[in-house]
Amino acid sequence: ELSLAQRVGRIKPSPTLAVTAKAAELKALGKDVYSLSAGEPDFDTPQHIKDAAIEAINKGVTKYTAVGGTPAMKKAIIDKMQRDNALEYKPNQIVATTGGKQACFNLCQAVLNATDEVLIPAPFWVSYPDMVLLADATPVFMYTTAETRFKITPEQLERAITPRTKMLWLNSPSNPSGMAYTKAELAALGEVLLKHPQIVIASDDMYEKIMWTGEPYANIVNACPALYDRTVIIHAVSKTYSMTGWRLGWAAGPAPIIKAMADIQSQQTSNPNSIAQVAAAAALNGDQGCVATMVEAFKARHDRLVADLNTVAGVKCLPVDGTFYVFPNVEGLMAKLGAKDDLELSEMLLQKALVAVVPGSAFGSPGHIRLSFATSDKVLQGSVERIKALAG
Ligand code: PLP
Repeated sequence: ELSLAQRVGRIKPSPTLAVTAKAAELKALGKDVYSLSAGEPDFDTPQHIKDAAIEAINKGVTKYTAVGGTPAMKKAIIDKMQRDNALEYKPNQIVATTGGKQACFNLCQAVLNATDEVLIPAPFWVSYPDMVLLADATPVFMYTTAETRFKITPEQLERAITPRTKMLWLNSPSNPSGMAYTKAELAALGEVLLKHPQIVIASDDMYEKIMWTGEPYANIVNACPALYDRTVIIHAVSKTYSMTGWRLGWAAGPAPIIKAMADIQSQQTSNPNSIAQVAAAAALNGDQGCVATMVEAFKARHDRLVADLNTVAGVKCLPVDGTFYVFPNVEGLMAKLGAKDDLELSEMLLQKALVAVVPGSAFGSPGHIRLSFATSDKVLQGSVERIKALAG
């Protein structure tokens, strides 16, 4: 009998994609499902970016490139990080990847061993634990609540660190909580990390541009420059420019880690798509007005959705700092509808209210649900009405 590798048994398919699949099944049966489960902007990729890609195809930019990205791609990334983040990188500190996801995965492959522990604040992006498990290491969760706006404290970080701690994931603003760390909060976490030089910091800045705190964006290196030599920043054009399908991300960090990631990539996928590299460079180098337009729309939807959700009995929703997700507490609604947990509640919302959401348990935070507002006002308002009707 054929047997699979043991590592396959350690992981599960993406739970967010599972919800999307269930919603699609109901839609196929003719049900008018409102889906608030999307993990991607609902806008089209801006025209000037598409035009750059079309031109690249016509010019024959259709061959292998350097594994870690073309010089032009790396330059666009380096310029972006200098301009927006005040961080300096050389080309050997940058690897362009097939989406931010490949950067996250290959970072785990490049630094983790079987005895290592990796600290993951919860709620977390669903892929972090499984990527750690696929690298044979052990995820260690630091649970947070609405009381700290779903952010870890320095004390909590200190308590979780052991001699085996090899890496810390940070994701600000966060999928799914929508919350961002302030520069001062990051500086306080940095103080703790300075005492533990063996820890690599993975800073997932994917949602950097989708924010409305009014503060300039800060990541852990901005807050604590001494961590520059052991922080890997991960980013992508996916969310910022509505380019999820193009699959172009990057990692920026210490040259030895970046080289290891590129070496792994060279035996895996080789270079990221040549045409997507041209499109991503056009996105990063071009006019940023398209980003402002999308962020304005997200903010307006956010304000309305948070207000509407808080009119539903049993739902408590904090306004968030950015992303296109809110992460309300639904324990009251669970009690009212007799759902034993957020998984059962999400199933009820889908089957009885025809509203698709992702249960908080998928992100390590039971008692919550994630709603994406990367969808139309009609769907958002209609969804809240349906949930209200079900809740009675
Ligand atoms: N990191 C976070 C926090 C995300 O939400 C996502 C996408 O959902 C990714 C990384 C991966 O993004 P990409 O589509 O660029 O692979």
